[in-house]
Amino acid sequence: MTINSPPGTGADLAPGRKKHALLTAPWGGPFAELLVRWFEENRRPLPWRETYDPYHVWVSEAMLQQTQVETALPFYERFIARFPSLQSLAGAEESEVLKLWAGLGYYRRAKNLLAAARIVAARHDGRVPSDYDALIALPGVGPYMAGAILSIAFNKPFPVVDGNVRRVLSRICGWTEENPKGLWAAAEQIACSGEPRSVNQAIMELGAKVCSFKAPRCLLCPIRSACVAFKTGMQDRIPPVRKRPDTVHVHLFAVVHKRRGRYLMKPSDGMWEFPTFTELPPGEFKQTGSCRHTITHHRLDVSVFTGPLGPHDGFEWQALEQVPVSSLTKKIAALAQVGGRN
Ligand code: SF4
Repeated sequence: MTINSPPGTGADLAPGRKKHALLTAPWGGPFAELLVRWFEENRRPLPWRETYDPYHVWVSEAMLQQTQVETALPFYERFIARFPSLQSLAGAEESEVLKLWAGLGYYRRAKNLLAAARIVAARHDGRVPSDYDALIALPGVGPYMAGAILSIAFNKPFPVVDGNVRRVLSRICGWTEENPKGLWAAAEQIACSGEPRSVNQAIMELGAKVCSFKAPRCLLCPIRSACVAFKTGMQDRIPPVRKRPDTVHVHLFAVVHKRRGRYLMKPSDGMWEFPTFTELPPGEFKQTGSCRHTITHHRLDVSVFTGPLGPHDGFEWQALEQVPVSSLTKKIAALAQVGGRN
């Protein structure tokens, strides 16, 4: 089936949403049909797709922000095994939630999820709201997350725009410049062009599996005949590359002080970490290794030392396995015990 360029879907927009008039692409009819058929044949069997339980969809979307599916999957499985329902999460201690999130990074996501679960348990009878205004009022829920929950879990026609959707739609439309209004307008039309759950996941999945950033596999793409970037050979120029903040290099000295199976550690926003310094403090320390770690645009070079630290306010003795720690703290612990470079 070939898609030509006549525009328009004829579908109703989501209730209460404004109609945009910026579209040029043919989002409805055969476009949506081809997209959904491709999705049905190629979709990954992900656990949150088994029942589309709203709580499960919500947890998956929180984990997938800034994180690849393959990375998030084992964390999701452990999290849902421990907190199978929203009520079980709402009743949890923050430290336990953070321990399950440890290694996934961006711990604000876990804190927001817990705070939101507690609000839903208290104000919405433990049921994830199926209403945009109620969802967007929850901590950690923005327009993307609200659209994803409403369309994927509740099958309502709300748009989603994440990095994958931005790339696919920009290429289809041939946008060499940023066009956020056009993106949301197109996503809204797509959400209304078929079963919302299917078309939204289809466009996201296509971005993840076929329309990749560096090497889009256009010959496998079900909608290539509608794609301006494919027709004009401009895939490598679309979407425009966003300027990232310059990398900031930081050198830190981590000191691991162990006594009777416990470590001297400091709290940091709900997590626990070994004390780090920009200059090695006075004392008898032995260097056991060094490691690199990247957090957003910060590149950390960490020299790891062991030895007794003097008294410091706020430091406490902790058993490493009993408190939530980041992957950097785990790297440092490994180097303190076995030495070498990681
Ligand atoms: S034809 Fe190529 S560039 Fe266009 S949407 Fe498909 S994979 Fe992406």
